[in-house]
Amino acid sequence: MNNSEINAIEMPVAIVTGSARGIGLEIARVLGENGYRIMLSDINEAGLETAKADLIAGDMIVATCVADVSNGEDAEKLTNSTIEAFGRIDLLVNNAGITRDGLIMRMDENAWDLVLKVNLKGAFLMSKAVVRTMLKQKQGAIVNISSVIGLMGNAGQANYAASKAGLIGFTKSFAKEFGRKGIRANAIAPGFINSEMTAVLPDKVKEQMLAQIPMNSFGNPRDVANAVVFLASNKASYITGQVLTVDGGMVMS
Ligand code: NAP
Repeated sequence: MNNSEINAIEMPVAIVTGSARGIGLEIARVLGENGYRIMLSDINEAGLETAKADLIAGDMIVATCVADVSNGEDAEKLTNSTIEAFGRIDLLVNNAGITRDGLIMRMDENAWDLVLKVNLKGAFLMSKAVVRTMLKQKQGAIVNISSVIGLMGNAGQANYAASKAGLIGFTKSFAKEFGRKGIRANAIAPGFINSEMTAVLPDKVKEQMLAQIPMNSFGNPRDVANAVVFLASNKASYITGQVLTVDGGMVMS
C-alpha cells in the first residue's frame, strides 16, 4: 500500500443524498474541501455523473450511487456501495427533498404522500441503513436538512412543512437513541437559499420574503454547506439533537 492509499483510508467518508445539484452538490463540494471522501447519490443519474466530474476536477475522492431515498432497498444499496467503495461511513447528510405545493383544500393525497415519503421516510430509511455501520465504528454523525418552513409553517406548503417538522422530531429521537453510542444527529433549517428551486419564484414573492429577513439578503448553498461541516466536525462533538437555522435571522427561537 502506498502513502496516498494510506492517507485516503484515514480520510472520513460522507454520504450526501440528493447531491446531483443544488444545495446537496455544494454540501458535497465543501465536505470534499474539508478532507472528506464523498459518496454522491441522487435519482438523477446524468446529473450525478456531471457532479462527480466537477468534484474530481477539484482533486476530490468521489464515488456515485443512483438511489431513491424513499425506497428501502435503495437505501441498503447506497449504504453497501459506500462500504465497498470506502470501507466506512462517518457522516450521512439527508439532503434529498422535494416540494409539491398547493393549498390544503386542493392538495391531493398523492402530493401529500410523495413529499412525506421522500423528505421524511427517506431520512428514516437512510439513517436506519447507515447506523449499523456507525455502531460498529462506535462513532458517526447525521445531519438532516430540514427547513424554516418546518418551524413556522407556510400557506400552500402543508405537506412540505409537515415533512420538515417531522424530520426535526426524527432528529431528536435519533439523537436520544444513539447518543450513548457516540452517534450524533442534528438538523439544519435553511431559510431562503438562492437555488433553482427559489429562482423561479416571482419577484413580488421574493420581495415579500426579503422583508422578513433581518440580514436583508438571501442565503447561498455554501452557507448551508458550512453549517453541515461544522455539525459533522469534532468542533461540534458535544452537540446533538439540535436545530441550527441558517436563515439570516428569519426565525429566532
Ligand atoms: P433541488 O435543487 O431540487 O435538489 C434536490 C435534489 O434531490 C435533486 O437532484 C433531485 O433530483 C434529488 N431528489 C429528488 N427526489 C429524490 C429521491 N427520492 N431520492 C434521491 N434524490 C432525490 O433542491 P435544493 O434547493 O438543493 O434543496 C436541497 C434540500 O434543502 C431539500 O431537502 C430542501 O427541502 C432543503 N431546503 C431548500 C431550501 C431552498 O431555499 N432551496 C430552503 C430550505 C430547505 P431531480 O433533479 O431528479 O429532481
